[in-house]
Amino acid sequence: MPVSEFDLIRTYFNKPGLIPTQEQSARIPLGIGDDCALIDLPPEKLLAVSMDTLIADVHFPAKADPALIAQRALAVNLSDLAAMGAEPLAFTLALSLPKAEESWLQAFSLGLETLVQTYHCPLIGGDITKGSLSITIQVHGLLNKDEVMTRKGAKPGDLVYVSGELGSAGLALSLMSNGMSLDKPDTKELHVAYFQPEPRISLGQGCAGIASAAIDISDGLMADLGHIAKQSDVGIELDAKAIPIARAVKKIMGAMGDRSKGLNLALTAGDEYELAIIVAEDRREALQQTAVAINVPLTLIGRVVKGSRVKCLDNNGHEIEVKNLGYQHF
Ligand code: ADP
Ligand code: MG
Repeated sequence: MPVSEFDLIRTYFNKPGLIPTQEQSARIPLGIGDDCALIDLPPEKLLAVSMDTLIADVHFPAKADPALIAQRALAVNLSDLAAMGAEPLAFTLALSLPKAEESWLQAFSLGLETLVQTYHCPLIGGDITKGSLSITIQVHGLLNKDEVMTRKGAKPGDLVYVSGELGSAGLALSLMSNGMSLDKPDTKELHVAYFQPEPRISLGQGCAGIASAAIDISDGLMADLGHIAKQSDVGIELDAKAIPIARAVKKIMGAMGDRSKGLNLALTAGDEYELAIIVAEDRREALQQTAVAINVPLTLIGRVVKGSRVKCLDNNGHEIEVKNLGYQHF
């Protein structure tokens, strides 16, 4: 029996676990079911809004587990809130589906629920259309008016930090595009890094009011730092030996006989969703204490300088040649 759009919404989206809890309803007096959702914005806050589209076979393999596709779609959006230091509030979801396959929708909806619960970010509306598989999510978050952390705030002398380790998600994508499945013990870690990136929400919120600028790494470390450099009108120098290359990347790239590729991957691979954070020297302690308090590894990787380029320097201060500077669609 064919199912209507309204049945699908009721069964898979307008359900406890995804929609606002009673407590969250104070800020969201109206969710799914009307022409618009309504948000009651506290006067001392700004609303942070961001949207990302994931298209099958561009941003994820079409045959991937729908629960993982859902998690990735929401996680990459939450990562943008993290980079602004915003607290998640709610999201909307536009789904384009080739057909209404209920087992797919069931798994997709359960995948979403995991992140909705973890990050306290309920679903408040959306749209479903027939078409090739794509997922668009718009997230909404709240931030304090006096703690806005943009890409414009970096100044020469500031320090550059990055959270976590780099390269795993990029290596996962390149192995999957070459037809490899990531189910062996030593590639499982890569699979998790790609499909279940951890949006650094607590770190982002902790940095607000301390950092001068921040960005999440979606295009690649050097490419994303390039956005900060451009908007802040500065240069950035990275220390090659300080770059935290993921253990699995070192191991697999080492086995392939070229260690320098591990560094190149860490510098250029997109889809990492770690935060690059710029902080003034005298706020360095405060930043480090924040990271320790929330138990997120943070590594000092470089410095903001006068200039306009992002460079990675070796032990002798010579610039390392970096290939393939980040993903670009066009
Ligand atoms: P309209 O025609 O007024 O745009 P729709 O019929 O598309 O409304 O949707 C009905 C209600 O269901 C709206 O509140 C909309 O936000 C919600 N909705 C539609 N699709 C989704 C979805 N994929 N996830 C969550 N809510 C949805
Ligand atoms: Mg509609």
